[in-house]
Amino acid sequence: MISLPPAFVRRVTGLLKDEAGAFFEALGQPAPVSARLNPRKPVPREALPFLDPPDGRVPWCEQGFYARERPVFTLDPALHAGGYYVQEASSMFVGQALRRFLDGRPARVLDLCAAPGGKSTLGLGLLPGGSLWVANEVIRPRAAVLKENLVKWGSDRAVVTCGDPARLASLAGAFDVVLVDAPCSGEGMFRKDARAAREWGEALARACEERQKRLLPAAWECLAPGGYLVYSTCTYNPGENERVLEWAARQFHADPAGIPHDFAGITPGDSPLPCYRFYPHKTRGEGFFIGALRKRDGLPFSLPAREARVPRVALPPAARALVGEAGGYTPYLAGETLGIIPSPHAAFVQHLGSRVGLLYRGVEIGETAGGKFRPSHALALWDALPREGTRAREVDLPTALRYLRKEEIRFDAPPGEWVLVTYRSLALGWVKAVGNRLNNYYPKEWRVRMDDAPRVV
Ligand code: SAM
Repeated sequence: MISLPPAFVRRVTGLLKDEAGAFFEALGQPAPVSARLNPRKPVPREALPFLDPPDGRVPWCEQGFYARERPVFTLDPALHAGGYYVQEASSMFVGQALRRFLDGRPARVLDLCAAPGGKSTLGLGLLPGGSLWVANEVIRPRAAVLKENLVKWGSDRAVVTCGDPARLASLAGAFDVVLVDAPCSGEGMFRKDARAAREWGEALARACEERQKRLLPAAWECLAPGGYLVYSTCTYNPGENERVLEWAARQFHADPAGIPHDFAGITPGDSPLPCYRFYPHKTRGEGFFIGALRKRDGLPFSLPAREARVPRVALPPAARALVGEAGGYTPYLAGETLGIIPSPHAAFVQHLGSRVGLLYRGVEIGETAGGKFRPSHALALWDALPREGTRAREVDLPTALRYLRKEEIRFDAPPGEWVLVTYRSLALGWVKAVGNRLNNYYPKEWRVRMDDAPRVV
């Protein structure tokens, strides 16, 4: 049983009144486990026994499932291949907002506080064709985790940046939707994370509120006229939720933007603005808050003419052998890294890179060091890698786990050839036959560490 801070108990009791007992009882239960499948990397259902009914679907997310138990996810190669993402169920409701506001049109979306990548991997699966998703994280080590998760997810429409929101504000009017999943006091995570309860305090909640108000002007500046700001937190504190949303509406002269739904148990927020609270005694998930605003007017973004041109880069034959002519994509070179990006976004992303640190864009294809071409790990995980041009080898679970630990694995392969290692048809990464051994090219910084033998998965 978690030990709850008394000031928190007093506030929530005042807020929930008759329901407070049910709420605290729910906080004493184990947190539900849920995961979201990658629509672009189908995993056979028998490979995910922990997600099977009777626990079933997360009502507001087509790809979201509850798990009967918490398996050792790290020991499931399908997770490392980007087949699914372990995500708390309430926060999957962001997908409802995206569906409504994207409305089937190509769009640019900015996820301003994006690490570790839950909302970004969700949003990438919902993006209309021709869209771009910019995932930003200000804290460098967290941005590296965000990049890892997005590379594994495998979409070529994602860009990862690492920057202070104020630097992104110079892209005024550039985004149709901006997501601010704000850093908060984390009350909604007490059940999952005992540290959040230990570190909680009223001073922290007030500091979070101030920080949220500092973030929002940059988010608003980035929005195109007619665009939508989606604001969410994982706290119950109205001071960081409804009051911040109302502050933003007044400050920016924003229109309210509703997220209609007909799911049971979601509680309307205490505000004249449309917004929702998620409580663990009413919906099967953790604490969550979401609301949205619409920008009425402002200037649309236009790319400075001198930046509208991107340098021409030719794909070397070794890269073409793997990705073909890559029609619809523009090749780029960043240092010795060769990549491709959907052509309609090449100039915009180049411009973005002049404002904020660009950690990833499109698909990295490979390294060109010393005149030799070495395919990148991201290419192996790309959800549209043409498999015809690639030699692939399916492996069993023990071999897949050895590969992910970056240990030696063995099978016959023609010397000098790059071979894609797959598990249940999902790509895990590359090996290359050198002499009578296979060199394992799994990135060492992502190496899976495990002390015990595989369980459950
Ligand atoms: N959207 C993420 C997801 O779904 O996986 C979770 C985001 S988490 C609630 C908030 C993020 O905001 C953290 O990654 C944190 O590092 C970042 N953050 C902290 N301080 C910030 C600041 N001053 N400006 C922008 N982001 C900040």
